[in-house]
Amino acid sequence: MPLSDEQVDAFNVYQVVGNAMVDRPHTKLVCPKGNASPHVETGGALGLLVAYKHCLVCCSCDYTQKLVYEHMVQPQPAAEGSLDEPGYAEQLIFLKNHLQAFSDEADKGNHMGNHMMVKSLSARLSALADRFVVNGPKIEIMPAMLLIQIHNMADPGSSVRHIIRGFMAAENVRRERQHWMGALFEGNNGDLIFDNAVYEQTVWRGKQETYYKGVKEHFEKMQNSLGFVSHFQEMEDAPLLKQDSNTQPLFPIRELDEGVVRLKALQPQVKALLGMMSGGSLDSMLLSMERPQIAGELEAD
Ligand SMILES: [Zn+2]
Repeated sequence: MPLSDEQVDAFNVYQVVGNAMVDRPHTKLVCPKGNASPHVETGGALGLLVAYKHCLVCCSCDYTQKLVYEHMVQPQPAAEGSLDEPGYAEQLIFLKNHLQAFSDEADKGNHMGNHMMVKSLSARLSALADRFVVNGPKIEIMPAMLLIQIHNMADPGSSVRHIIRGFMAAENVRRERQHWMGALFEGNNGDLIFDNAVYEQTVWRGKQETYYKGVKEHFEKMQNSLGFVSHFQEMEDAPLLKQDSNTQPLFPIRELDEGVVRLKALQPQVKALLGMMSGGSLDSMLLSMERPQIAGELEAD
C-alpha cells in the first residue's frame, strides 16, 4: 500500500475471477465479520473486500485492512487472445453477471465499495469484449439467422462454435441493447434457437424505452415552461399603481393571445397541475394522480 490504479483494478478483478497467470489457489479476501448482518453475498463471497489505493474495504460494512498479498495485485492475463478460445464466452457471461450484482447493490445506495467494483469489473469486461473488434474486413449486415445456422452446423466444442459464441457474448457486453440477443435460447443439445415471438416482444419493449425517453424530456420542458406561465400570471395580477385620470395610452392596447387568456382563466387548475408535476419526474406525477383514487377506494370500503 498504496496501490497503483492498475493494481487496484487487478485486485478487484482477482477477487471475483482469480488470476490464471498466478500459480496459487484462488482464495478471496473477505471481511472477518462477513457471516453477520448486514453482509451480502457479492462476487461469490459474503463481505468481499474491495481495493482502493490506500486500503481494502468491506463491500458491506466499514471494515478496512492494509494487508494485501503480492499475487493478488499481479496484472490479469492479457485481454487479447484467439477468437476461438474455449471458455471465452462463459468468462464474459460470468463476469457480466457479477458486475450486474455489484451494480444492483450500488443502485440500492449500498456501500460505496460496490461502485469501485463496478468500475474495475467494467474496465476488465470491456477490454475482454474488445477482442472481437477485429481488424480487417467485416460484414456489417450478416443476418442473425445465418450466424445461428452456421453455429448449429458446426460440431459441439469446435472452434467455429467458440468463435460465434465469443462474438455474441462480446456484442452483449459492447452493445447490449441489440434486440436479437433477447431472442436467443440454447437447447439442451447446445444448439442455438432463435425465437421470433420473443424477438418481436423485445422490439416492442425497446420502442417503449425509446419513446419513454422522449416523454420524459418533454415532461421536464413542459413543467419548466408552465412554471414560468404560472409565475408570470401572478406577476400580472400584482396591483397596479393608480393611473392619473388625466393620462391615456399613447398606442392602442394590444389584445392578449387568446390561448393565454384561456389558460389564465384556468389559473387554479394550472397551479394544481404544477403541484402534481412538482416531484420533477413523470413517475411522481403519475403516483400523485393515483393517490386520490386510492383514497377513494379506501373510503368506499
Ligand atoms: Zn464487513
